[in-house]
Amino acid sequence: MIYVARLNAHLRHAKTVLEREVVERQAAQALLLQNEKRLRQIIETEPECVKVHGRDGTILEMNPAGLRLVEAAAPSDVIGISVYQLVAPDYAAAYRSLTQRVFAGAVEKLEFEIISLKDRRLWMETHAAPLTDAHGNVTAILAITRNISAQKRYEQQMRRENRELAHASRLDTVGQLATMLAHELNQPLTAIANYSKGALLRLRNSEGREEVVGAMEHVCAQAERAANIIRSLRGFISRTDEELACISINDVIERALSIAQIEAQAQNVAIECDFARDLPTILGERTQLEQVVLNIVRNGFEAMEHVPASGRKIKVVTSTAGNGMARVCIDDTGPGLCTDELDTLFTPFLTTKQAGMGMGLSICRSIVEAHGGRLSAAQSKAGRGLSFAFELPPSCEQRVMQ
Ligand code: ADP
Repeated sequence: MIYVARLNAHLRHAKTVLEREVVERQAAQALLLQNEKRLRQIIETEPECVKVHGRDGTILEMNPAGLRLVEAAAPSDVIGISVYQLVAPDYAAAYRSLTQRVFAGAVEKLEFEIISLKDRRLWMETHAAPLTDAHGNVTAILAITRNISAQKRYEQQMRRENRELAHASRLDTVGQLATMLAHELNQPLTAIANYSKGALLRLRNSEGREEVVGAMEHVCAQAERAANIIRSLRGFISRTDEELACISINDVIERALSIAQIEAQAQNVAIECDFARDLPTILGERTQLEQVVLNIVRNGFEAMEHVPASGRKIKVVTSTAGNGMARVCIDDTGPGLCTDELDTLFTPFLTTKQAGMGMGLSICRSIVEAHGGRLSAAQSKAGRGLSFAFELPPSCEQRVMQ
């Protein structure tokens, strides 16, 4: 009897515990449902595109903002398709490598273009993070993506305007050099005329073939010299947008100095170069970088106007900076600038020259920055004169190798 009563009591207790557990579990489940609903509401109302996709790119989920972004009419337009049906083909490789890195556990960011379901090309920025299961295995990617087309359009517009400005400034430079260029071209042309007359005279007098050949060789060399001047100028003032190319900064400087040399001779300025031979190549626009060098060098010429001719010197040194960038230093032996003047040196429209525009250095800085580098100026370490330095990042392949 006592045994049965005890058993009953145990059973009652067990029932109470069970009932309490059921209630607790129901409450936990309700809380879970409530949390899931809240999370879903957050995702549904999130203004940015939230999407989940698998390793192969199959889209598993996308919120309404995402559907609007890719111009889908209904979730069925995108759920189950591959994300690579939306990513523009030229960005597929970059997106694939982002997916691999995120599946390896990284949180990554990427700017890329998509082609919407209505065939529009749009710029996107995505932040992607791994989604893991209870064991910590990455099962999918959670990506939050926003449309940055307007920002990209603005950047492109700015780049176009900067290019126009840079082109106008190059035309201005060549305009300023016109008299010297005419003089520079006149020399080979006069030489060609003289050698040709000499050759003609010898032919008329039936003189030796050797003399005529010698004169004609001179004609060819002088014609080549004139053609080189024209070629470098034509390249320098061309308006066409250049393709980005892997270029040697030493070559860029040499080409810029071939134009500057004309003025240097006229003003008795000695140009000294010390080029590092193992510099990283730059991914950039040759003409624009030539413009930077030419502008800084010509400013140096003007700054040394009142320096005795024997002391006018421009020194151009290239090296690899500690951060792996290609570094260019251009020093002059002019009067230099005080700290206050240095602070405002790159401000647009600030000039001390009567015919100056004050745009040269500001254009130079935006060109260097558009190449991912930076341009600065300081008092020359040699004691007098100004020292300009700019650093440019190595081209992509070399960055990967480093
Ligand atoms: P601009 O040549 O039309 O004046 P820049 O932007 O090229 O325009 O130069 C702005 C000003 O910076 C110049 O007017 C000059 O006062 C100063 N400057 C530039 N380079 C030097 C230099 N090497 N030494 C001294 N001052 C310089």
